[in-house]
Amino acid sequence: MQAYGPVTAATLGRLAEIVGADGLSASEADRSLHARDQGFYAAHPPEVVVWPTSAEQVSAVMQLASRERIPVTPWGAGTSIEANPIPLHGGILLSFERMAAIVAVHADDFQVTVQPGIGHRDLNAELARHGLFFAPDPGANASIGGMLANNAAGIRTVRYGAARDNVLRMQVVLADGRIIQVGSRSVKQSSGYDLLHLFVGSEGTLGIITEATLRLYPILEHISAVVATFTAVEAAVEAVVAVRGGGLDPSALEFVDAASIELLNRNAQLGLPVGPTLFLEFQSATAQAAARSARRCSSSFRAPRPRPPRRASGWRRRSAASSARPASPPPPTPASGAGCGTRATRRTR
Ligand SMILES: Cc1cc2nc3c(=O)[nH]c(=O)nc-3n(C[C@H](O)[C@H](O)[C@H](O)COP(=O)(O)OP(=O)(O)OC[C@H]3O[C@@H](n4cnc5c(N)ncnc54)[C@H](O)[C@@H]3O)c2cc1C
Repeated sequence: MQAYGPVTAATLGRLAEIVGADGLSASEADRSLHARDQGFYAAHPPEVVVWPTSAEQVSAVMQLASRERIPVTPWGAGTSIEANPIPLHGGILLSFERMAAIVAVHADDFQVTVQPGIGHRDLNAELARHGLFFAPDPGANASIGGMLANNAAGIRTVRYGAARDNVLRMQVVLADGRIIQVGSRSVKQSSGYDLLHLFVGSEGTLGIITEATLRLYPILEHISAVVATFTAVEAAVEAVVAVRGGGLDPSALEFVDAASIELLNRNAQLGLPVGPTLFLEFQSATAQAAARSARRCSSSFRAPRPRPPRRASGWRRRSAASSARPASPPPPTPASGAGCGTRATRRTR
């Protein structure tokens, strides 16, 4: 196989013509900032970091890279834990930090069109003004491009599905620089090959996402939460089956093992009971319905009477896991016994 080409002074000059002199950097600091994600894998810096501002610039960079056989790695927010944004072969790193705009909010269609670099939290902060939100939430403030490329899932997948289920259309730049559209804003899409979902989850290997139209949901004002600690993983799994089997529809659900709870307690002083733990959230249009869901959830565990916790803190704990992670993966915790305790509350957003 033909070796990759290097980034030469001539390449840097050509890149500067495409994105402008302030649109690239080969400095040690910028290269090492983009040398690793948030996982455990070794760092490897790119030869140059490029910040495009349009699909046309991405296309021109790809044409150049394709001609000179320079590897290109897209970079969203670098929150992956699988090493896929690490530029293993050096080359060009394309950061989407400067392509982070909301192109259009189609509120009546429950859709939004965005550039790939926008963080899902930043997007949701803006969408809240329209009473809407984009459901997938992997915990970290990942970019939409990175979430689509990784088919990110997370706490809300139980009700809303993963990133794959929440995208309707994308603009993609192929390796040779061609700009294509896949999918459409129409909810019913069944003619031709489903190229949209081929690109979702392809981790930047098939093309570079430069725009996406996303599916949105209305924000339901009233929220209740249940935090349940079990003495065995099996009991937690059975509880989830009981909750779903009983017709309850949590809007968010997360399982955290005992070792991670211990880490969270140690690093964020959370004082949670140590054991396999479920965090569940229920959203409803009325406060009564949200509270009823939490009560039904608690009783489906055959748990003691619910006590009120703070709802938002549950998911904040999850984000805290990022800084609490050890330098190497923790060993698995053996499961034991059964039983649980729950806490429940409701709170208006
Ligand atoms: C504390 C924590 C919790 C997490 N929990 C979850 C979870 O529950 N579920 C989950 O799925 N993930 C989770 N993640 C992982 C991570 O947040 C997701 O994988 C997220 O989708 C990465 O997005 P990013 O913007 O950071 O992408 P990056 O890490 O920058 O890149 C991820 C991949 O996408 C590619 N890419 C980036 N932008 C583009 C683009 N515009 N076009 C094409 N390819 C592109 C990159 O090359 C790379 O292959 C978690 C991470 C942390 C730190």
